Amino acid sequence: MDLGYLTRIVFGTGSIPEGRVLVDPHAHFHRGLEPNDIVEALLDKGVSAQAICDYGLEKGNPEHVISYDEFVGRLNSNSGLEIISSNDTMTKVKRNKNYSRLILFSGIEMEAEVEGSHGGLLHARHMMHIVVHGMKPTYDYAEEILKRAKNEHKPATIAHPFTIPARKVEFVYANEEERDTVVRLAKKYGAALEALNGTNSLWMTPTNFWVREVGLRNNLKLVYSSDAHARESLELTREQVGIAGTTIEKRFFDKAWNEGRFWGMHNAMRYNGQPFGAVQSPALFYRVMIAPRLQRMLNGE
Ligand SMILES: [Zn+2]
Repeated sequence: MDLGYLTRIVFGTGSIPEGRVLVDPHAHFHRGLEPNDIVEALLDKGVSAQAICDYGLEKGNPEHVISYDEFVGRLNSNSGLEIISSNDTMTKVKRNKNYSRLILFSGIEMEAEVEGSHGGLLHARHMMHIVVHGMKPTYDYAEEILKRAKNEHKPATIAHPFTIPARKVEFVYANEEERDTVVRLAKKYGAALEALNGTNSLWMTPTNFWVREVGLRNNLKLVYSSDAHARESLELTREQVGIAGTTIEKRFFDKAWNEGRFWGMHNAMRYNGQPFGAVQSPALFYRVMIAPRLQRMLNGE
């Protein structure tokens, strides 16, 4: 058991190692914010590549969550930032002040049922969250998304794999059947597991550790992400970005930048990515997750 990993994700890993850059493959942003302000925040935190993810939930993408297309559509070059190029999967931005560079890339986090799953005491079925990049799959079941991603050579990641969405209580820990399913599907379709999800100190600290142990034991690909939540406050957004992610060798970032294609960066993450950062502090967790929920309850929503 790598208890050192637990210490790292609770207390953080310090600065980004020499010769490596920080990539965050899973995060969400609020439509009410200016994309330029979010880009400035990412550059301030030393993020080199950031996924802009919307949701494929039962009811579609929640209105407050900005999609990659809208994000880059509203981004403008100004005296501080220059958009070098932009297409439907990847956008290159440079900060004029110090030449720091940022790649934005498209992502979607889909919620889908695992066909034939049994659920448990507090949840009827195994609902899986899957993050894919550069595609917008239509689907009925989790396995269909993973299969399609594999067939199209697109990277897929099972997000917070041992934290299962459960309507009544938000989340439950994965039971044995669900853990076995995660390992089986990840192996079958070459999907990565998210072994650090930075959002939720209460749930994610034990499950991050657990996912990493199981992933290493089964030789699975692991990636690490902030899962920053879309909040309308720029201050809260600034605090969430760059707190966690995957570091890769800088040459893979340079290659993606020069070629205008980001697939090599994904392979670098999945085969040789290192965890960076930590889960949110309890104080930030309260402000990002608990306080908005209490407010909605008080509003009777
Ligand atoms: Zn997410």
